[in-house]
Amino acid sequence: MRILISNDDGYLAPGIQALADALAAVADIVVVAPDSNRSGASNSLSLDRPLSVSKAANGFYFVNGTPTDCVHIALTGMLDYRPDLVVSGVNNGQNMGDDTLYSGTVAAATEAYLFGIPAIAFSQVHSGWSEVDSAARVARDIVLRHFETLESPFLLNVNIPNLPYEQMGPLTATRLGRRHQAEPVIRGQDPRGREIFWIGAPGACRDAGEGTDFYATSQGQVSITPLQVDLTHREQLDALRGWLK
Ligand code: MN
Repeated sequence: MRILISNDDGYLAPGIQALADALAAVADIVVVAPDSNRSGASNSLSLDRPLSVSKAANGFYFVNGTPTDCVHIALTGMLDYRPDLVVSGVNNGQNMGDDTLYSGTVAAATEAYLFGIPAIAFSQVHSGWSEVDSAARVARDIVLRHFETLESPFLLNVNIPNLPYEQMGPLTATRLGRRHQAEPVIRGQDPRGREIFWIGAPGACRDAGEGTDFYATSQGQVSITPLQVDLTHREQLDALRGWLK
């Protein structure tokens, strides 16, 4: 099994190192990741400048671009083979509910899925890297136990509680929950007195009921949500056709 690994926290992040270490024991791996933290990059491609690929001392490749750039470059020219699986993470913090639309971690996996390759995004529920090796071990379990049994290609979004491996709850199939709207932007002044804005925190959970990713992880379970890319609101199609008549 050949696995391409990427992330959005950058190639130096503890999460991608832990994931690479865990998967190198069971597969041929290659790491292609952003050169810096590109969290929140979503599915963006860099179309306004050239991109370069460099190789770090540990063998990881890093790119001066987004997570999507990394996977795109790897799949469309850099690698001379097609990976069997693409994994992303382990991210420094949760990607649940609406987070999935902003997440570079999920985007890296989505890029592979768009190319017809099965892909899995892994995130820890809390940031700070506590129990990151435990999360990587869970990731390896999922890669080994579930890879062959799902219809391919698939796109899975996995959120892992920051728990020791022995205390980890069961793998649980979930749907995405929903958040309230985001917290207000944080206004400030730069040293020259000009007004600046920092994007505020994500909103609190709005739909965190049973069956959601929020609920499962609050119970100590590993949340696995199958994702799709088609954003069409099918229930509104007929209403729209009526409106257009
Ligand atoms: Mn991140």
